[in-house]
Amino acid sequence: METREPVYLETHRRGLLQAKIDAASDILSRCTLCPRNCLADRHHGELGRCRTGDRPVVSSYAPHFGEEDPLVGSQGSGTIFFTHCNLYCLFCQNYEISHGGEGEEVSVEDLAAMMLYLQKRGCHNINFVTPSHQVYQILAALPLAIKGGLHLPLVYNTGGYDALGTLRLLDGVVDIYMPDFKFWDPQVAGDFCSAEDYPEIARQAVKEMHRQVGDLSTDANGVARRGLLVRHLVLPDGLAGTRGVMEFLAREISPRTYVNVMGQYRPCGRAGEHPTLRKFLTVLEHEQAQQLAREAGLTRLDRREKLFRWL
Ligand code: SF4
Repeated sequence: METREPVYLETHRRGLLQAKIDAASDILSRCTLCPRNCLADRHHGELGRCRTGDRPVVSSYAPHFGEEDPLVGSQGSGTIFFTHCNLYCLFCQNYEISHGGEGEEVSVEDLAAMMLYLQKRGCHNINFVTPSHQVYQILAALPLAIKGGLHLPLVYNTGGYDALGTLRLLDGVVDIYMPDFKFWDPQVAGDFCSAEDYPEIARQAVKEMHRQVGDLSTDANGVARRGLLVRHLVLPDGLAGTRGVMEFLAREISPRTYVNVMGQYRPCGRAGEHPTLRKFLTVLEHEQAQQLAREAGLTRLDRREKLFRWL
């Protein structure tokens, strides 16, 4: 059971936060914040693949009750949905936000105010959704939020395409990492998000995240305080490579990794262009994926997969 304060408070007290903000700001001048390595000068109007400059761009912020139970608790997870993405899966379920750019540019003061608003609403955490390309903005807003009394753990809710150098900047800042592990096969990753290196990048990223925060730990009410949760969206016809992902998590991360084997795939975005992605996932395919997770030795599967099977 975990009760300690979020790590960023200690990092801030020790005066280490500003160095992280400065380092992230430097990276933005020739952006290598994520593995796309665009080299865009985001401080001076150049845009890379993520089409985001140096100000936060936010689609929405609100208490959210559709996340995993340890994040939702009784009061909800305080989600802040960032606009754009560094991955751009063609079947994205938030296509208008990621590809379409739905959202508004705001200031870091606004972003800090959003965090404090969500805390005031009683949320258990601040859940940054699709944060990989806006790490600088998060870091820059954090001291303002701390000054305003922020004391909730931060959730880094990412597609899993994260650079190691950027993750190391978040060491001592993020308490809860929730990456996707989307694809095991480089060719599938290349076809669906133009990132053949995704599987290797995601393996390295998940290892680094686990090194920083360990397995998921919760408070007396079962609410997440620190640790790693991994999401895996099962795709039709085995395209996500579920067996490889589950065996990696069990053997190279921990059999106690908290994993959500997600069965809600439906064709979105440009999925209709691909003969397999055009299909819906069947109940049998989802059951088989869950079985692969259990066979791999994973012992903490998200509760809702059981509810799904009882339907
Ligand atoms: S964060 Fe954006 S600009 Fe920077 S490397 Fe990634 S996609 Fe390119």
